[in-house]
Amino acid sequence: MITFFLIGLTVHVVFFLSIFDIYFTSPLVHGMTPQSTPLAPPASRLVLVVADGLRADSLFTLLPNNSSRTPFLRTIIEETGTWGVSHTRVPTESRPGHVALIAGFYEDVSAVAKGWKENPVEFDSVFNESRSTWCWGSPDILPMFAKGATGDHVYTHTYPAEEEDFASTDASRLDTWVFTQVKSFFQAAKTNSTLKATLLEDKNIFFLHLLGIDTNGHAHRPMSQEYLDNIALVDTGVAEVVSLIEDFFGYDGRTAYVFTSDHGMTNWGSHGAGHPSETLTPLVVWGAGVNKAQRVTEPQPYEDGYLKDWNLEHIHRADVNQVRRMQKKYCFCVHTPLNSLHYNHRL
Ligand SMILES: [Zn+2]
Repeated sequence: MITFFLIGLTVHVVFFLSIFDIYFTSPLVHGMTPQSTPLAPPASRLVLVVADGLRADSLFTLLPNNSSRTPFLRTIIEETGTWGVSHTRVPTESRPGHVALIAGFYEDVSAVAKGWKENPVEFDSVFNESRSTWCWGSPDILPMFAKGATGDHVYTHTYPAEEEDFASTDASRLDTWVFTQVKSFFQAAKTNSTLKATLLEDKNIFFLHLLGIDTNGHAHRPMSQEYLDNIALVDTGVAEVVSLIEDFFGYDGRTAYVFTSDHGMTNWGSHGAGHPSETLTPLVVWGAGVNKAQRVTEPQPYEDGYLKDWNLEHIHRADVNQVRRMQKKYCFCVHTPLNSLHYNHRL
């Protein structure tokens, strides 16, 4: 009887452990040779702005008087760029969101062993493949991309973690800090010939991580004046930085800009799950290699009703997935006491 019990127990333990071995392993494969395309790229550099925790509808919805609280980005949507919704997936958190945007893969399921707090394996990213990348923003996000980079070419500028408190009364100061730093960086580069020469090379990336909107959303909720005012502040900041960058590069038309968010936020100021308020994020792209806004007269193939809500029925909308859809998919669910997480995982 005891032998039978022990055999039964062993079989169950082996089955249980095999689940971790089979499913909770990283989808990433290491040791491959990087490939590059012989096609000439349309842009020489990329400016990536991620407004952490910004919902798509918070950016796209007009004010009651039909004006926009983000006049700079609205003009790009309606005239000079391309817009759409970037669809994210659970867990709608900052780390997996940024890894998706910058490294191109969804949540690494083996991160469960690290409590979902950090990426368990080293990964390649567009920052690592750039000639140089300069980042400004939160110490929670930036070091992750500098850590995995081979060679010293990902430069991070963060406010000290303990000083995130400096924004406790007004979180938008986190974003003001980033804009000020970026401005003085380009200002200094004008008279620093070494830095200037580096900046004028191709394949460079500038990444602005703006944590103010997320922080204000948690503290005051997305319908609050604090959250909405922070969005307006970001619009002004982006406008100023873009004008400075264009001036620095002599309006050469070789800069591409991407403005998006890592995840949204529920009406009650949380994120992590799969509600549309959390998974729908804005995407506004413009500059080198990007189509200008296209007017459409036919109804667009989106049935979610948002085009009407956002007064954008007449401008071509181009939705994307935060990570390009994978061809072979394998789905499974992880049920934890707190959450029910659903993953698509490449075989
Ligand atoms: Zn958050």
